[in-house]
Amino acid sequence: MTASANKPADPAAHLAAVIDAAPRFRCAHLPTPLEPLQRLSAHLGGANLWLKRDDCTGLATGGNKARKLEFLIGAARAQGADTVVTHGALQSNHVRQTAAAAAMAGLRCEVLYEHRVDAAVDPDYAESGNVLLTRLLGAGRRDFPKDTDMDAALAERAAELKAEGAKPYLIPGGGSNAVGATGYANCALELFEQAAQMNLTIDHLVHATGSTGTQAGLVAGCHALGWPFPVLGIGVRLPQAPQEEKVFALARATAAHLQVAEELPRESVRANCDYVGDGYGLPTAGMIEAVELLARLEGVLLDPVYAGKGMAGLIDLVRRGFFAPDANVVFLHTGGAAALFGYRGVFGGGD
Ligand SMILES: *Cc1c(COP(=O)(O)O)cnc(C)c1O
Repeated sequence: MTASANKPADPAAHLAAVIDAAPRFRCAHLPTPLEPLQRLSAHLGGANLWLKRDDCTGLATGGNKARKLEFLIGAARAQGADTVVTHGALQSNHVRQTAAAAAMAGLRCEVLYEHRVDAAVDPDYAESGNVLLTRLLGAGRRDFPKDTDMDAALAERAAELKAEGAKPYLIPGGGSNAVGATGYANCALELFEQAAQMNLTIDHLVHATGSTGTQAGLVAGCHALGWPFPVLGIGVRLPQAPQEEKVFALARATAAHLQVAEELPRESVRANCDYVGDGYGLPTAGMIEAVELLARLEGVLLDPVYAGKGMAGLIDLVRRGFFAPDANVVFLHTGGAAALFGYRGVFGGGD
């Protein structure tokens, strides 16, 4: 059989049907708005910038993990789990939203924190922002030093919980596996329908990429739809080569999970990791400028770890003339503003 013989007649309807067949726990406010960034576009004078508002997914102050958790918590419930276990950095948005989704679903939540960022980054880093919210949401916690093998720690914690009689469901860091990434294939479908309604041709999609589920789901979803435009991930942790490899591996697994017959081209995965700065979670001048610009020109709050660095990359690329002046460039706002409260001093908040 040729590849084209495997192509469904209506790829959007086919993708929707495959996604609708997956167990799902509705916990995100969808669809999220797609809005023009008029004042930022005029200020930069390079391209037509748009914002896909995944900071508005609801679920305990919003963010991209809500879309993944719809499918992860759906799977946990389908398997009869009574507890979810996951891990993340101390100011993890993923951990915060997992605790919220578990609370909504009536599941116990246990989190493993890696002290990945030197807490000296800010006096509030270890206690405020997401750490405060996750405590409020009722999650149990264990703490581990930087560079712990967190996947191994997760497996050990799950074994402990099992020995105590619990039925744990393991959610990887960032919710990034094929089940979680399905939430971002669903976002691609949502954007496809939104762009059609608005008569908008999207030329580029840009967003912050970390544990890779967001980009993998978007790339797999756009591939399933036969909807070709570059999806550019702005890295926040790894260098370009390993980041692209990780995204590609998960994008392929997600495409297979979604029963997409046609091979995913390697070129569909692009990451730019020039905006990481000194490391994960560490502030850069570009991030601070991006957070302040979006706040003051658009009334939009980015975050210091992901969307702020992603937007710093987008701003720099616009200034360098990377996009055609009339190109429609959508930035996916993945949320995370709660972490701002862990970076008070970085934004000029004194003692
Ligand atoms: C987790 C996260 C990301 C990165 O998404 P991945 O799917 O992990 O690549 C981006 N922005 C925010 C605010 C996040 O919390």
